Amino acid sequence: MPSFARVLPDKAGDRALDYIIPPHMAEMVAPGSRVKVPLRARLLQGTVLEVLEDSDVPGLKEIHEVMGGQPLILPKLFELARWISDYYCCSLEAAMSCLLPQVVRQAQVSAKKRNFARALREITDDDLEKLAAKAPRQADALNAVQQAGKPTAITELCQTAGVSEGVFRTLEEKGWIAIEQEEVARDPHAGDTFIPTQDLELNEEQALALEAVKVAIASPTPPRPILLFGVTGSGKTEIYLQSIKAVLAQGRSALVLVPEISLTPQTVERFKARFAALQQEVAVLHSHLAAGERHDEWYKVRSGKAKIVIGARSAVFAPLESPGIIIVDEEHESSYKQEETPRYNARDVAVLRAQREGCPIVLGSATPSIESWHNVQNGKYQLVRLAQRVDDRKMPVIRIVDMRKTTKGGESAFSPPLVTAIESRLKKGEQTILFLNRRGFSTTMLCEVCGHVCECPNCSVALTYHRDASQLACHICGHTERAPKVCPECRDPGIRHAGIGTQKVEDIVRKIFPKARIARMDADAMSRKDAYRLTLGAFKKGEIDILVGTQMIAKGLHFPNVTLVGIINADLGLHVPDFRAGERTFQLLTQVAGRAGRGEMEGEVLVQSYTPTSPSIQFARHHDFEGFVEQEMEFRERFHFPPFSRMVLVTVRSESREKAEFTTQTFVRRLREVTPEGIAVSEATPAPLEKAKGYYRFQTALRGTSTRAMSRAVQTVLHALPLPEDVFIVADVDPVQL
Ligand code: ADP
Ligand code: ZN
Repeated sequence: MPSFARVLPDKAGDRALDYIIPPHMAEMVAPGSRVKVPLRARLLQGTVLEVLEDSDVPGLKEIHEVMGGQPLILPKLFELARWISDYYCCSLEAAMSCLLPQVVRQAQVSAKKRNFARALREITDDDLEKLAAKAPRQADALNAVQQAGKPTAITELCQTAGVSEGVFRTLEEKGWIAIEQEEVARDPHAGDTFIPTQDLELNEEQALALEAVKVAIASPTPPRPILLFGVTGSGKTEIYLQSIKAVLAQGRSALVLVPEISLTPQTVERFKARFAALQQEVAVLHSHLAAGERHDEWYKVRSGKAKIVIGARSAVFAPLESPGIIIVDEEHESSYKQEETPRYNARDVAVLRAQREGCPIVLGSATPSIESWHNVQNGKYQLVRLAQRVDDRKMPVIRIVDMRKTTKGGESAFSPPLVTAIESRLKKGEQTILFLNRRGFSTTMLCEVCGHVCECPNCSVALTYHRDASQLACHICGHTERAPKVCPECRDPGIRHAGIGTQKVEDIVRKIFPKARIARMDADAMSRKDAYRLTLGAFKKGEIDILVGTQMIAKGLHFPNVTLVGIINADLGLHVPDFRAGERTFQLLTQVAGRAGRGEMEGEVLVQSYTPTSPSIQFARHHDFEGFVEQEMEFRERFHFPPFSRMVLVTVRSESREKAEFTTQTFVRRLREVTPEGIAVSEATPAPLEKAKGYYRFQTALRGTSTRAMSRAVQTVLHALPLPEDVFIVADVDPVQL
């Protein structure tokens, strides 16, 4: 009889401890159970890793409590956590912490229960009359129960009958009714009604795409991942919906990941409405849910009640028993990467999960990531295309405005062509979106006159400006040089590091168009809970003429009356010190442009740029993804960047600059001693964001062909290197943000 459990306590590194399973818990303890265990004088929460027949450790203590009464973690997800810990260089405990939402993991909230009343016997008019003569309030209450005709929450009955809860207790004592507790789900969309929708009739391309997914669904062996490459507005979502329907018909479930930012009410509504028609529950998992809602939505999935999950990054761990399909929308999105430990990429974990579950996975995008495209080219993924917008709606016309020719200074953020274009929309009562790229921290030097950007001679990424040392540095190869005082290209002293905020843009728009109705949408303006929803609602109703925003408005929104999109500073994202800068800029321009002309009217996009000839901007202008990819692949291959190599980025931080720098240098030296041939370890350099939250940050990057070999080398050094107390080291495997 198994009577011992190996338990991994939370936040205690990876030291597992054995405990005795008391007989009355024997049924409840299994790998994946959450338990409370005693350690010294305290009780700790932890996860059961294994159940053992025997233990030779003397003097073991007993498990104190099994939380939630059942194993919460599914075995397959358990295995996924092991893989994450191994691949992404983090403790098993950290990897496992992803598997359950905090509220579930720590059992901070429990199911919400309410009292329901139901009649115990037939209630006649005669009964009611007799009762009314003696106790009119009881008669009213009983009447309400009778009228409801099914078990009903007492709080509701109190309102209909106009009596207090005590009256129902009396009825219970007299044997008229029974009062029972039932769970009620805290549903984030409780107040919303979803009008059921039917499948749309697919166009030819869509029909072929759906067919390809259905073949994968029917495949007896794990199918290759499908890359659904469909231009904006080509009807990808409709393919998702109908694929899921096919999976549900087989009695299996579906997992849909979307970036947090596009988990808008619009998206959720489309899923809820479609599956309402099939009487299927859709669970929604994301970070803006209240604790109780998150708890209940999670259990709705764990219990098998919801067969469809739509959620953001962490929903990749949704506890579906046997998913029949996994969909990752906007697969290129960098927000799938978690920027704190464990630094997993939900898209990549989804691919692995699908492989282990043996189910198809569909990665959808209008601008697939270079990594995924590479996988199409080497045959690992299957490509499915949607080249046309539905209803043959035209792609918007994209015009580039050369900002080098406009005047310098404040208002120059708006070129004359953009001002004219907005004016004409205001006159016609059409809407405008103004987009400001906020990626990058304006640490790059850009010449306002000729558009020159200081780049690394070895790596072809923008150099980072470090004010303290008045220096430019490349944090990939370690190259440094003095910051120039005049532009190296045109000799103009107008070289500076540029940057303009949304607030400033809004101010300028108000000044130029004092009568226009303007709203701003960025992280600051949207910090109030409902602001996002309200602003979008107002925009949709036409109560706003011009919407100014950041990345937040780039994705997935559908506004038929928007005919103009202005991109204020297309360059800003181009000159961040990251080899993905070109890819991101292309993606962003394409996505933002996709917001224009989604209705009957044609859309126009104005792109303001200081580097109008850069390939990302030119290819985006011509809606030419493949042209862009071809030159981007060449660049990546030439400089040995992913996907032609793998990368691990190690960041060391400390409040002391010297300690951070010194530790990084030591780390680099040790790494070079243990790394096998074929792995390049760069010199220690300041991180692009050299000081953040009071910490100085230094980095080294490893590049090679095997991620595992690099992870292992990093782990080895990490374990052997004695760290001063105030120095922290983080390894980022397959980094997305350099
Ligand atoms: P994507 O996800 O590729 O951007 P959507 O799925 O959002 O595209 O589709 C864009 C619009 O076209 C939506 O309003 C959608 O309802 C509509 N649509 C999609 N497929 C069809 C179809 N076969 N017939 C008519 N309308 C469609
Ligand atoms: Zn370099």
